[in-house]
Parts: sequence; structure tokens; C-alpha cells
Amino acid sequence: MFRLIHTNAILILGFGAILACMLGSIFIGMQHLDTTRDAWLRDAAFREKVRAAFLMREAVRERSFRLTFAATLDDFFERDEQRNIFNAKAISFLTARDALSKLNLTTAEAQALATLMDQIKAARPGIENAMSAIVEQGHDASIQELLETGLNGQSLVIEALNAFVEVVEESSLREATIASKAIADTQQNMMLLSGGAVALALTIGIIVLGREGRFKARLREHRDQLAMLSTTDALTGIANRRHFDEFFKLAWRQTTRSNLPLSLILIDVDHFKLYNDEYGHAVGDTCLTAIAKAMDEVVVRTTDLVARFGGEEFACILPDTETDGALNIAEGIRNAVAELNIEHSESSTASHVTVSIGVATCHPTPEDDPTLLFKTADDLLYKAKQQGRNCVVTA
Ligand code: GH3
Ligand code: MG
Ligand code: MG
Repeated sequence: MFRLIHTNAILILGFGAILACMLGSIFIGMQHLDTTRDAWLRDAAFREKVRAAFLMREAVRERSFRLTFAATLDDFFERDEQRNIFNAKAISFLTARDALSKLNLTTAEAQALATLMDQIKAARPGIENAMSAIVEQGHDASIQELLETGLNGQSLVIEALNAFVEVVEESSLREATIASKAIADTQQNMMLLSGGAVALALTIGIIVLGREGRFKARLREHRDQLAMLSTTDALTGIANRRHFDEFFKLAWRQTTRSNLPLSLILIDVDHFKLYNDEYGHAVGDTCLTAIAKAMDEVVVRTTDLVARFGGEEFACILPDTETDGALNIAEGIRNAVAELNIEHSESSTASHVTVSIGVATCHPTPEDDPTLLFKTADDLLYKAKQQGRNCVVTA
């Protein structure tokens, strides 16, 4: 009873744990989706930032190129056209910068952007002056100094821009690392919980199967025990009357079909009432058990059967055995019992326990009545009793 409650408690706890693991797994799965979505959004924002920074850098580089290119041109109008492109690129730069400012900058990025803008502010007059001078005067030695100042200013701006791009890329990389670690942690937790649920389910399965297996084995054991009890005589351990009747029917049918002889031996213990009176019922039981054992040792063919017929009477069925063979077995039984040499002071036949035996043989046909064989054997046994007991009588 306790074991049953114990096992059921384990099962309930186990199923509870599986449910908890599964719910945990689902919860973590949802979190995983959130984490992934956050990471994806942040990644998209960083990509936007990097793109804006690249556009800014492209605009500044383009302006630098136009400045240098204008210096190589002789025609005023061509130089002025370069200035127009140069100015337009300043607008591209500002558009990209405005887009960038709207994108939630980190402190490091905001600082880098401020440094960049300071640098631009400082360099811009020099650059603008250089461009104006080139357009107005062409490539003249007098503007050499102005041109150098402008180009230096551009270089400083590009350097500040590179530093800014680096900061944006670095934060992007850091965020990506954090996000991928969060995703990996979630995956690991999910795997652990799912693995735990599977392991628990397996354990419970094994417990249930084991319990069922043990239960079935116990049932089989019970069934075998019952089957044995229903065919065995409780006192002597040899076949009981029921078994004998079944066996006799089978033997009768088989010998009829195969046209073989069938012998029946009936054995009765002599003066057993007196034995019981003298030595007591319990000793009588022991005596019957010893006699059964001795008979069982004589009747060894697997096709034969020795059984307790009732009280102090026993019977043997010997299929495929003629009278001579049956007589031999009967004599063997009589001798074996005599040789047990169980004292019987009250017997007028001998000083020890003896048996009387009737042996009948027939060749059964479908028309024959099986009870006739019993009657014959019983009559012969009665004859043996009359002839002084401790003997075998056959027809
Ligand atoms: P006979 O030589 O003519 O066979 O005399 P008997 O005394 O053996 O025959 P009777 O039929 O008068 O007595 C049989 C006795 O067997 C009576 C009964 O108490 C005893 N008996 C029957 N079954 C058992 C048993 O299971 N245990 C014991 N101890 N005695 C039994
Ligand atoms: Mg009797
Ligand atoms: Mg008797």
C-alpha cells in the first residue's frame, strides 16, 4: 500500500516537473523571440547609423576631390561648376548628419559626433576660402597657401569622421555580441529545460513499465501457483484426483486412437485405520507422504502418472503398458513401500506398513466404458485384500 502511494506520488511529482519544464521552456522561448527581435531592431538601427556616417564621409571626400580638381582647371566656368558640386555635397553631408542625429546615439557616439562637428566648424572657413580663391583666380601661386590650408582642414575633418565611424562600428559590434550571447543563453536554457522534460518523461516511462512488468510477473507467478495447486495434492505433493481424472480421459482417448493398451493400478494402504489409531493422524499423514514419494520414484516414465486417489488410496495410469509391465511396476511399488519399513505394530499382515494392489489392463475401443477398467482394478484390489493383503493381484 505504502509502495503504491509512494510510486503514485513520484509519478505525480514527475508529471508536475515535466509540466513545469515545458511551461518554462515556452516562457523562455517567448523571451527568446523578444531578445531576437530587440537584437534585430538594434542591429537595424546601428546599420542605419553606420550608413549615415559613411554618407557623411563620402560627402566630405567628394568636397575634397572637387577642391583639388578645380585647382587643375583653367576655365573659370568649369571651376565654378566644381564649386557648385562642392556646395551640393555640403548639403548631402548635412542631410546625412540630420538623419544620424535622429537615431538615438550612445554617449560615446554623441561625443564623437560633437568632436567631428567642432572639427568641421574649425576647418570650414579655410576650406570655403580655398574654394572661392581657386574659382576666382585659377591655379595661381598666390593661392597655394590658401589651398593647402583648405586641404589640411579637409584631412582633419576626414580623420575626425573616421574616428566617429569607428566609434559607431565599435558600439554596433558590442551590441551584436551582447545580443548573440543573450540568444545563446536563451537557447541553452531552453535546451536544458526541454532535455530535462524529455529525461523526466523517459524516467517516468521506465518506472511505469518496470512497475507493470513486476505486476505482470507477480500475476504470472500467482497463476502458475494456482495452476499447480489445482493439480497437486496438498499433503503428498503428487497429482491430485482432479489431475488424475483429466489425465485418465486424455490417456483413454490417446490409447483408443493409437490402438494401444492402457493399464490402471489401484493401491490401498493396509490397516491404515489401525495405524492412525495407534500412531495418531499426524504420523498417518507423514506415512502417506512417504508412501507417495516411494511410489513416485518407481513410476518414472513421463507418460505415466501416479496420483492420490483419495484417503489412503493411490492410483497409477500407465498408457502403452501391457499387464506384465504394469505388474512389474505394481510389484515395484509394493516392494518400495515395504522397504520403507514403517513400523505398524497393529497390522496383522506385517510388522511394517504394507499396500495391496489391483492391476487391470485393457485395449480401449470407442465402444468401451472407461469405468469398467476402474471396476476391474477395484475388484482385483479387493481380491488382494482378501488374499491376505501386501500383494498384487491381476486378472
Ligand atoms: P484395509 O486394510 O481394509 O484397507 O483397512 P483400512 O483401515 O486401511 O481401511 P479403512 O477404509 O477402514 O480405513 C481408511 C483409513 O484411512 C481411515 C482414515 O482415517 C484414513 N485416512 C484417510 N485419509 C487420510 C489422511 O489424509 N490422513 C490420515 N492420517 N489418515 C487418512
Ligand atoms: Mg481404503
Ligand atoms: Mg486401506
